[in-house]
Amino acid sequence: MPAYPHLFTPIKAGPFTLPNRIVMGSMHTGLEGERDAVPRIAAFYAARARGGTALIVTGGYGPNRAGRMTPHPAFIGSRDDAMALKPIADAVHAEGARIVLQLLHSGRYGYHDEIVAPSPLKSPINKGVPRELTGAEILQTIEDYGAAAAYAREAGFDGVEIMASEGYLISQFLALRANKRSDEWGGAFENRLRFPVEVVKRVRALLGRDALLMYRASVLELVEGGLNLEETRRLAGAVEAAGADILNTGIGWHEAQIPTITQAVPRAGYAWAAGLVKPAVKIPVVASNRINAPEAAEAIVASGQADMVSLARALLADEAFTAKAAKGDRAGINICIACNQACLDHYFTFKPATCLVNPRALREEEFASAPAPASAKKRVAVIGGGLAGMAAAATAAERGHAVTLYEAAGELGGQFNLAKRIPGKQEFAESVAYFAERMKRAKVEVKLAARADVDALKAARVDHAIIASGIAPRALAIPGADDAKIVSYVDLLRGRKAPGRRVAIIGGGGIGFDVALFLLERGSKTHAEPASFAAHWGIDLANAGEGGLKKNGHAAPAAHQAPLPAITMLKRSPGPFGRTLGKTTGWVHRMALQRAGVRFLDGVTYRSIDAQGLHIARADGTAECIAADTIVVCAGQEPLRALDETALAAAGIGCTYVGGAKFAAELDAKRAIEDGVRIGVSL
Ligand code: NAP
Ligand code: SF4
Repeated sequence: MPAYPHLFTPIKAGPFTLPNRIVMGSMHTGLEGERDAVPRIAAFYAARARGGTALIVTGGYGPNRAGRMTPHPAFIGSRDDAMALKPIADAVHAEGARIVLQLLHSGRYGYHDEIVAPSPLKSPINKGVPRELTGAEILQTIEDYGAAAAYAREAGFDGVEIMASEGYLISQFLALRANKRSDEWGGAFENRLRFPVEVVKRVRALLGRDALLMYRASVLELVEGGLNLEETRRLAGAVEAAGADILNTGIGWHEAQIPTITQAVPRAGYAWAAGLVKPAVKIPVVASNRINAPEAAEAIVASGQADMVSLARALLADEAFTAKAAKGDRAGINICIACNQACLDHYFTFKPATCLVNPRALREEEFASAPAPASAKKRVAVIGGGLAGMAAAATAAERGHAVTLYEAAGELGGQFNLAKRIPGKQEFAESVAYFAERMKRAKVEVKLAARADVDALKAARVDHAIIASGIAPRALAIPGADDAKIVSYVDLLRGRKAPGRRVAIIGGGGIGFDVALFLLERGSKTHAEPASFAAHWGIDLANAGEGGLKKNGHAAPAAHQAPLPAITMLKRSPGPFGRTLGKTTGWVHRMALQRAGVRFLDGVTYRSIDAQGLHIARADGTAECIAADTIVVCAGQEPLRALDETALAAAGIGCTYVGGAKFAAELDAKRAIEDGVRIGVSL
């Protein structure tokens, strides 16, 4: 009996029978507009096809110039534009999978000067005001969708996905929020429905019946003036009647003030929304958002909430997710931890996407899937069992080196063991388990609660030492810094010290925010249970009203814990808090802290600590004492170098520093893991 039987039951979709229920959902790679990058994109998708994924959807391409996302020419305006992408389709077909090209008209979400929309209404997340489309331009846009689909077909794609969710152009036509027209394209719902239906009809007509037409509908809008369930079901039925073969689903407009894919969202936390729409159609329905593990995917299909599942980031994190799930090799899957740090945060800062837990993603030509065996086998010691050390040890051992890893603590995982204690970051435990499993399979010798010195390494005839001993939290250097109220974030998060009711957090970086979330949300179930999440964020599980929002809005923050601690967060630099957090995730953390009444003080000077509390000078020079029972220092990090390279060199042992031990400032796990992989492949 296969481990995930429903996931691996074939399904008929349009002209094709797909061997499993896993679709690789569309994700912007940030390279769509670059013709030179076509081989790189082709290698990326081919790896996912080789990894068993049945159907792949490309990143979004505009159906015309106005519909592109960025100033880059990522649109299909001619046969030539599509033919340039043919190597992508060919590479996927060579691996036996299907691929459809996503047609995404950005509407008012485009980051360029030529944006258009049904009405000239600025989106809250974009600076530009769109130009209102004329009636003739609407008809031309429909033609452009059809032509782009036909070109994609000529270029070898198996069909197209029409992107009609997340608040892009088609969503803008459908919702009163963005459509104020009074002609036949606006007003009553049947008028607003006209644009998507005409697009689907035209695409169907020009694509032919032997190609696949997916429509990605917005099934839970999460914005005021968005559609409700009844309208969404009518839309789904109309799109099916117009010729769609698969109904994919999307959650929330990009301007929604409710998380849709971040770590705040429970696993498979929105599958229920696809389930509400499924009865309206006979074509396969695909559930999406935060589906990162095969058991979550299996449960969705088994329960009948959806017929298929869309995995995007999960397949960035592990190209062979599908093949491993088919074999029941759950422990071998590198699970996406929903951090967005290397994928969406890269895209929205105009860098190509990759993956924090898998630096090979979108760099398949640079990093081999199975790095070549080492030409000369070495004895390698890895000092430190955090993610950098584990990635280095696993990679080096897989290439044939004899690797011993020394970890001073009693467990593997380093900083990830702290991170996994933060509400919403429980997925970090998956990465620790995954790299530990790889080390086990590669026969790395792991010594826990063990410190190695140069003599021991010399005695063990070690050729090369990888120093991955991480960081030490930066201490505060002001009078009273040894006061009993001072608590390190490590002791707090590990539960070695209990916080008081009034807490001052020194430092407003990632760890300062994490500590605040820990204090406010520990014990909460909103990150784990879809119903608790919905209650917390004010989502109506029946999707009865506008955009699926509850009339009374958000629930009180962290209602599980009363009273909430009174938190003051401080930093020396002037300016808003949270600017260093992730582009696509920081707003969720800022919002949580603001709602919980955290007091933010920037531009401060720390003076001293005494029985009364933390004495500071405010930005305007006035003195203040922050009365606090607990003062948590989150003032950044210093490198912790367990062994010195000079002493190692004197003993004839090569040395490489990785992760925080190499460079602690702005350390993040993305660089730590990449450092580890790089030394592992280069030794
Ligand atoms: P960080 O982001 O660099 O923040 C350090 C904070 O300490 C800053 O707010 C800084 O503010 C303050 N600081 C620096 N030197 C100080 C000193 N001598 N005395 C008092 N305050 C001082 O570092 P982190 O918070 O330790 O995070 C470490 C890394 O993990 C970062 O790369 C971070 O991005 C990443 N991380 C990210 C997240 C997330 O995005 N959610 C969560 C956790 C960790 P002032 O200099 O203005 O005082
Ligand atoms: Fe997932 Fe983070 Fe990788 Fe993005 S960078 S795919 S969110 S693990």
